[in-house]
Amino acid sequence: FCPTGAISIKTHMDEVWDAIADPNTRVVAQVAPAVRVAVGDAFGLTKGHSVMGKLVAVLHRMGFDEVYDTAFAADLTIMEESKEFLDRVEKGEKLPLFTSCCPAWVKYLCDQYPEYKDNLSTCRSPQGMFSAVMKEYYRDPEKNQGKKTFVVSIMPCTAKKMEILRPNSFTKGEQDTDVVITTTELIRMIRNSGIEFSTLATEACDMPFGFGSGAGVIFGVTGGVTEAMLRRFADRHDKATMDSVAEAGARGEAGIKEFTVTYKGTPLNVCVVSGLANAHTVMENIKRGKKQYHIVEVMACRRGCIMGGGQPPRAGNRTKTARTEGLYQADSVTSIRKADENPLIVSLYDGLLKGKVHELLHVDEY
Ligand code: SF4
Repeated sequence: FCPTGAISIKTHMDEVWDAIADPNTRVVAQVAPAVRVAVGDAFGLTKGHSVMGKLVAVLHRMGFDEVYDTAFAADLTIMEESKEFLDRVEKGEKLPLFTSCCPAWVKYLCDQYPEYKDNLSTCRSPQGMFSAVMKEYYRDPEKNQGKKTFVVSIMPCTAKKMEILRPNSFTKGEQDTDVVITTTELIRMIRNSGIEFSTLATEACDMPFGFGSGAGVIFGVTGGVTEAMLRRFADRHDKATMDSVAEAGARGEAGIKEFTVTYKGTPLNVCVVSGLANAHTVMENIKRGKKQYHIVEVMACRRGCIMGGGQPPRAGNRTKTARTEGLYQADSVTSIRKADENPLIVSLYDGLLKGKVHELLHVDEY
């Protein structure tokens, strides 16, 4: 919050408690990757360690009917964005492709560089994709059993509260995500619940969308979207391949990272940006013809969502590093590290998404 009170971010904790109290409402949570590495130290646990299993457990105890990992939807984003990217490269149009999962960046580009709107990926963010898929799943009367579905999105980000209100990401004219709460709001809700977080046994996410690959998990750190896409392009999934993708140039603290990779004989120029001041520099370079890229990943917050405006504040260098390492560690222990190898994603394309890919996963315009 602004210390002078001139700017304040609306909180949504009461709406969540009200939905939980309603017996005719199914309350579903999705937890973004960056949240899991920013909660533990508020309860005396090791800074930066992933507490995803404990978060699932505490949300169940607070009354959420189902708890999911937004990393699942990040896998969907990678499937769609990599396809869109290769289509554009093949046609040689609308390049560079700008990533679209950070709403603050999308707004910045639309306001400051509207002539580049067509370069934005049409993919909804992982938050948007998850909620659209969830609502579609429970549109079936046999599945919803007469209950309303209320999707609560737990995000490291205040801009995500604005993203869910953008009509261009509604499905069938309706808002998909009902409420966004930030990591700091979640911490307050856990404290208010009186549940002893630190001693909770870990629990797994619910089904049918309860698994995200390691590629989805690293979306929370700058360079993660790019690295996840490069994994998608890799033919193999062995450790040596994953290590070599990790060393391609997407990782690291620099606000602007540039490197070239070769895909099927075509050199692709990649730029990874975090922080809007750095995005401004990159956009001016592109506009003036000083730089030519094929893809540009932009996260408005320096170091990515781990340092989002909804995360616990006053994070020094030790915290920043711990959160980054926490996400890479969480990725390294997943058995599936490529989005295209997530079996839940494969079955989704064969089932619920048939004929609905564009309607549920993309926007028509910005
Ligand atoms: Fe939100 Fe910052 Fe992440 Fe963008 S980079 S989605 S503004 S937390």
